[in-house]
Amino acid sequence: MGLALPWLPGAVRAAGSPAPAAHSSALSYPPALTGLRGSHPGSFETAHALRDGRPMPAARDIGESYDLVVVGAGISGLSAAHFYLASRPGARILILDNHDDFGGHARRNEFQVDGRLLLMNGGTLSIESPTPYSSVADGLLRDIGIDRSRWEHGLEDRKLYASMGLGQGVFLDRETFGADRLLVRPEGQGVRQMLAASPLREAVRADIERIEEGTQDYLPSLSSAQKKERLAGMSYERYLLDVVRVDRQVCDYYRKLPHGLWGVGIDAVSALDCWGVGFPGFQGLKLEPGATARMGYTPAGTAKYGWKPAIHFPDGNASIARSLVRRLVPAAMPGAGIEDLVTARADYGRLDEKGAPVRIRLSSPVIRAVHLEAKQPAAGVAISYLRGGVVERVRSRHCVLACWNMMIPFLCPELPAAQKAALHAPSKVPLLYVSVALRRWQPFVKLGVGRVYAPGGYFSDLHLNEAVSIGRYATARDPSQPMVVHVTRTPCAPGLPEHQQNQAGRADILATSFETYERQLREQMGRMLGAGGFDPARDIAAITVNRWPHGYAHEFNGLFDPLLPPAEQPNVVGRARFGSISIANADAAAAAYTDAAIDQAHRAVSELTG
Ligand SMILES: Cc1cc2nc3c(=O)[nH]c(=O)nc-3n(C[C@H](O)[C@H](O)[C@H](O)COP(=O)(O)OP(=O)(O)OC[C@H]3O[C@@H](n4cnc5c(N)ncnc54)[C@H](O)[C@@H]3O)c2cc1C
Repeated sequence: MGLALPWLPGAVRAAGSPAPAAHSSALSYPPALTGLRGSHPGSFETAHALRDGRPMPAARDIGESYDLVVVGAGISGLSAAHFYLASRPGARILILDNHDDFGGHARRNEFQVDGRLLLMNGGTLSIESPTPYSSVADGLLRDIGIDRSRWEHGLEDRKLYASMGLGQGVFLDRETFGADRLLVRPEGQGVRQMLAASPLREAVRADIERIEEGTQDYLPSLSSAQKKERLAGMSYERYLLDVVRVDRQVCDYYRKLPHGLWGVGIDAVSALDCWGVGFPGFQGLKLEPGATARMGYTPAGTAKYGWKPAIHFPDGNASIARSLVRRLVPAAMPGAGIEDLVTARADYGRLDEKGAPVRIRLSSPVIRAVHLEAKQPAAGVAISYLRGGVVERVRSRHCVLACWNMMIPFLCPELPAAQKAALHAPSKVPLLYVSVALRRWQPFVKLGVGRVYAPGGYFSDLHLNEAVSIGRYATARDPSQPMVVHVTRTPCAPGLPEHQQNQAGRADILATSFETYERQLREQMGRMLGAGGFDPARDIAAITVNRWPHGYAHEFNGLFDPLLPPAEQPNVVGRARFGSISIANADAAAAAYTDAAIDQAHRAVSELTG
């Protein structure tokens, strides 16, 4: 008998009773599900129970044996399967994931509104990286039919919204700034004109203008290298207050500028890192281009290489995941070619077919991956996972853990203590990507905005979907047609160290109901866009809240993390091969990018097969 455990997602069934049939038709198409998605209810409870040391039901060996079992069906896990197959053609592979959809963070949101298909990324937005793609990552994309040089131009109409007169806006809310006001900045207009309509005091406006457009050198006695050293040791907030000497309310205005990249605000990111990604206020310092060792991965890369144009497929990098699935499990993704892929409907019922060389088993959180014989790793690995309330066990010659680093010590209790500590050390960045399907978007046109930053808002950023055309899919050019809007929230706890802010943000995300998100969204969008005729009751057709309590992989933050030699960095210590088990995933790179996830998959597979 299975053990009845109150935390188990889904009913516990007796060991030996038949496995649940493939998802019922109502649940068979996860991309179209709305409500709470991302880390959806049912996907994380097992991991939390494992973390809390709760008892698990006894495992039942289901008699399946593989060459490779991959834990995690994100980009890294799917890539690991791809690389393994390339090195061992004919290998039999099982990929396990705790979610009801594949892709990990590279998830697809799909809507049908008034007869029109609308797509949006539920997580990973685009093919972009602060560092050049390696030949490995680029080669994988080519293998699956994605030629970056072809799509860098021509996929997205980057000028559409500007050509319609839509610029950037800032929404100042009455709770933080004294009055609700949408400030609009058309292309080419100065910040002073934009602020003219604001409720901000003149001193605050002058300070913002100085930050955005001033050319004063605030550290005139220092060399460029000395300035960088000084900026590395202070937050952007302290830089604004102590060096630029602005009014305190200016900090409220810039508070959430780093949220999209870091998930924390100006108090928890160094001024040097903010310079690296191009935040304002440094023009007069005349810093020489280039990174220093105390910069984070993203700012160091952008300081060195600059931002390259991103490639955005209509569902973001879910297109990469779907393309990988098409190669690995062709029966589950009909058609051919990337143009066709965008509108292809995945057949989730065929992902895990008996006899197929590669099988993807969803809604199956792994709870153990241990060597069959501790002293003889070559004997293989036993992998146990929970499915439909029963713990099933399979065997495999090799195992790649392409899941999240902090889970791995729970899956592999036999790992050395130092490796476990390194895997536990970093904290992933929590964030929320909300896809809001609208019936029309004339209010944006009327107000002249395509994107709005809301420094005091519950949601901090909102923008119209990228204008993309590919195959039979096109984002609406006509504002009377349906459109998806992307809205972001990154809860955190200003003033605390980054790690603790992440924890607070995670707790906030998991404790908040869909009803709360919906109410906040309707209210905020109404206040921001009401003057343009936006009516939430009439204009919002559907809402998908993609929760990522464990979002971006942690990247080095010079304000809080010790500067260590490469071999001692937690991601390097944590990813050491352990017998027949190797470790992939973006955490192993300490870099929150798709190419990092692919590169780590390649390394992990090479460790096993090389
Ligand atoms: C909101 C968001 C936006 C992003 N935007 C971009 C972008 O625009 N461009 C870019 O290059 N990168 C972006 N990134 C980063 C990029 O998505 C990641 O670096 C990459 O997708 C990570 O892939 P992965 O396979 O390592 O991890 P994941 O995508 O997290 O996949 C790991 C999978 O393993 C599963 N798993 C964990 N534990 C278990 C277990 N015990 N059993 C079974 N399965 C388990 C997880 O649930 C997950 O599904 C973004 C990330 C986020 C969160």
